[in-house]
Amino acid sequence: MDGHDLLHTLQGTTEFEAVGDAPHSEKPTTSRRIPPDLRGCVTTVAAGSRPMPVLKAMMTTACERDCHYCPFRTGRTGTKRIKFTPDEMAQGLVALYDAGVVEGLFLSSGVVRGGVTSQDAIIATGEILRDKYEFRGYMHLKVMPGAERDQVVRTMQLADRVSVNLEAPNAQRLAQLAPGKDYVDELLTRLRWIEELRQESDGRLKASSTTEFVVGPAGESDVEILSTTEHLHRQMGLARAYFSAFRPVEDTPFSNIPAPMPNVNCDCIRPAFCCATMTSRWRNYRLSGRETYRGVLIPSRHGQSYTCDRPRWN
Ligand code: SF4
Repeated sequence: MDGHDLLHTLQGTTEFEAVGDAPHSEKPTTSRRIPPDLRGCVTTVAAGSRPMPVLKAMMTTACERDCHYCPFRTGRTGTKRIKFTPDEMAQGLVALYDAGVVEGLFLSSGVVRGGVTSQDAIIATGEILRDKYEFRGYMHLKVMPGAERDQVVRTMQLADRVSVNLEAPNAQRLAQLAPGKDYVDELLTRLRWIEELRQESDGRLKASSTTEFVVGPAGESDVEILSTTEHLHRQMGLARAYFSAFRPVEDTPFSNIPAPMPNVNCDCIRPAFCCATMTSRWRNYRLSGRETYRGVLIPSRHGQSYTCDRPRWN
């Protein structure tokens, strides 16, 4: 598969996935090496020491799960269903890399025949890239719900960054968003393994870890999100937490829930949280003056501006 075929097939599937350290500033590439209509899944992201163009890709957009907010959920008729073999994905990525279009890869997948099978495809792609093509560019690989511990080890050996999307701050909220997912057994346990493996490896496993929350439709409070994020930073060595503003998708159970902040021009419903967790600085943001967390007022879009230089958990 050449790079053009890969981009053409992926087009329209992964634009909104957060990847780098500052997803609110991600923008589609302006590279003249690819046609404008195929640029959507190549994004310049802050990842590592400098911005770089990264391909955002999925092994497949088919999925057997039924997460209520997700355009890839099972049975949704309007979804463009695509599937790549590990060889196809690796070939296409290397072609784009050799052409100077991308310097890295973010690779996710829908769940088909279980998380273990889906993780195998992600790992196989990473192995082909690292071993066969000697690809040394940036690689961010997803850890799928239910992936086995040995698979997590192999994924961390291959990747610069790994991620497990918790989607919600606790099991009760996740049950409203994604009733087919087990918060502790399938998700949180993988984040704990990742930190354990880093600690046990004497520096051999260096992959950083991130997670993402879908903010809004489960009605979670700011305090729930902040306390879970703090726990993940302190206890599980999390490098970044992303806060993805909910966007209603047609033909899903949440299609009639309005987007909570339609005017926010980034993927972060609560920009102050993003600043706190992604840049380690709380920048100008809004305070509601109603909720507090450890004595700090919780930001919201209403109220007065306030600046704080240090997140409390540093
Ligand atoms: S498992 Fe992932 S891809 Fe599948 S429906 Fe849920 S969020 Fe979407």
